Amino acid sequence: MRIWYSDPYRLPLPPGHRFPAEKYRLVRERLLAEGIIREDELTLAPLIPWEDLERVHTPNYLQALRFGTLPEPAQRRIGFPWSPELVIRSRASVGGTCRALEMALRDGISGNLAGGTHHAFADGGAGFCVFNDLAVAASLALAAGWVRRLAVLDLDVHQGDGTAAILRGRKGLFLVSVHAQRNYPFHKVPSDLDVGLPDGAGDEDYLEVLRVVLREVERFRPELVLYQAGVDVLRADRLGRLALSMDGLAARDRLVLGWARRRKVPVVLTLGGGYARPIALTVEAHVQTYRIARELFG
Ligand SMILES: [Zn+2]
Repeated sequence: MRIWYSDPYRLPLPPGHRFPAEKYRLVRERLLAEGIIREDELTLAPLIPWEDLERVHTPNYLQALRFGTLPEPAQRRIGFPWSPELVIRSRASVGGTCRALEMALRDGISGNLAGGTHHAFADGGAGFCVFNDLAVAASLALAAGWVRRLAVLDLDVHQGDGTAAILRGRKGLFLVSVHAQRNYPFHKVPSDLDVGLPDGAGDEDYLEVLRVVLREVERFRPELVLYQAGVDVLRADRLGRLALSMDGLAARDRLVLGWARRRKVPVVLTLGGGYARPIALTVEAHVQTYRIARELFG
């Protein structure tokens, strides 16, 4: 299993910032320590070229990021202050998802220990998302003719508004989001299939919905699935509003990855959100996704 990572690129944040920036490194270290991933399966993500970002992002937004002229309100919507390091790190995150997509087509599964930045719109970032890696990777794969039909399965607790805004209506795509209805973003942008769950929904309700959702994904007959495997659906998550247990989350990943394995649909893992306290819970949840992937795909 080939995996990309970008945590050595620094993400400079003001002291006390609520974004759990260290989770990326911690997940990689745990995957290695537990022997779920071997060192030789890990590659530092390449920086996505600006031309590829132009597939989905507007020239004005990209210019502002490049030259450090992003207005204060736009930085606030992202939730990170602009810095050259932020731009580099964000480009690596997209580069990782794009490379993982290519490798998934070869190996059946691949992953990026970053990405899933689904709140980024064409003309601006939001909610800790600078670029939309899912949209860039999907556009790249369809434009290059690597696949004709691609599904984005977004199971992060927050709705995939940016992805929907950028990609909806483009040919060959099926966009799915299962999320907490009353959570951020408060203005949802329709995907092809949206399921908004009530506050406090637990394992049983969630898994029942997911089974129905997977049947719909199957009817679309995707040749590849981009999986946004956010773990902020956990009960312990500070920004979640849902109430999945760690076992429920394992069942979620097993349903998705088991389905992909049986149907021989290549799958790309992206990390997505996770804001539990202590951070060890978020790290364990992300590691669990990879443990299950390893079990199922060998
Ligand atoms: Zn999220």
